[in-house]
Amino acid sequence: MNQDKIAAMLEEKNIRPSIQRMAIYKFLAENPVHPTVDTIYTSLSPKMPTLSRTTVYNTLRQFSECGLVQTITIEDGELRYDADTSNHLHFKCTKCGKIFDIAGSTGSPQDFLPHGFTAKKVQTNIWGTCSGCS
Ligand SMILES: [Zn+2]
Ligand SMILES: [Zn+2]
Repeated sequence: MNQDKIAAMLEEKNIRPSIQRMAIYKFLAENPVHPTVDTIYTSLSPKMPTLSRTTVYNTLRQFSECGLVQTITIEDGELRYDADTSNHLHFKCTKCGKIFDIAGSTGSPQDFLPHGFTAKKVQTNIWGTCSGCS
């Protein structure tokens, strides 16, 4: 993903596109593995010695508040981040621990919600064994 596009996306949300913020967004967009703060910090810190875990955490919180990323929780207390903000199912392989996006898997929840209910966010997780492990 090119830097100009990322900078434009951040500016559109009134976030100053600092080098660290851009790197964090780029990592998420290019690694759709639903990383945790730790994964992102560990991957970026060798190239960015001034980056701190707190910066990663605060940046992601800012991104999720303005809808640039979504947070997902599959395991208790383990917050993961996803640059794909569309509604989609997540599949966690219990053997290798990878989390896969199951694209195109959600029909509109409005199809089955009772009258008067409005869905804002859908989050469904499936646990099982991926093709590489079965
Ligand atoms: Zn697997
Ligand atoms: Zn996802």
